[in-house]
Amino acid sequence: MDYKKYIKIVNDWPKEGIEFKDITPWMDNGEAYKAAVNEMVAFAKEKDIDIVVGPEARGFIIGCPVSYALGVGFAPVRKEGKLPREVIKVDYGLEYGKNVLTIHKDAIKPGQRVLITDDLLATGGTIEATIKLVEQLGGIVVGCAFMIELSYLNGMDKLKDYDVLALVKY
Ligand code: AMP
Repeated sequence: MDYKKYIKIVNDWPKEGIEFKDITPWMDNGEAYKAAVNEMVAFAKEKDIDIVVGPEARGFIIGCPVSYALGVGFAPVRKEGKLPREVIKVDYGLEYGKNVLTIHKDAIKPGQRVLITDDLLATGGTIEATIKLVEQLGGIVVGCAFMIELSYLNGMDKLKDYDVLALVKY
């Protein structure tokens, strides 16, 4: 499917110089949204996934339907101060700004096979931080799936050791 026609590019948002890729038209379209979920499910199918993990907020939008379709759970990675129980945390840099990500300490059991999902791979800081959280809890990252990859930001360089799916590349 030609997903690009469902992505709206918004220039200079949320900051000057950023070409924001708005995926809401992609989600608005039931057929296109379902096709994206199905492609990620097909990618995950042979990997014997125990749990899907996604960073807020757009990692939930794609990760939750994938976990539902696989019949496995979903563990949220959230910004500092959002999860109510004991967490571990990692600092990282964004394409636009800085951030701290957290996960509940008991979200992943050692040895669990994890698929990580997010809407977009830019510099790779978010996925790298999410991988660190999963691995610190003893999880095995068996795949990372993105709706969009901004290849000109070289986020893939941080994912050389992982199996990665990106549905659309710019
Ligand atoms: P990064 O950590 O640099 O790989 O950035 C990835 C995260 O930031 C993703 O969760 C995206 O939702 C968001 N993001 C970064 N750059 C963009 C962009 N140009 N358009 C839309 N979302 C972006």
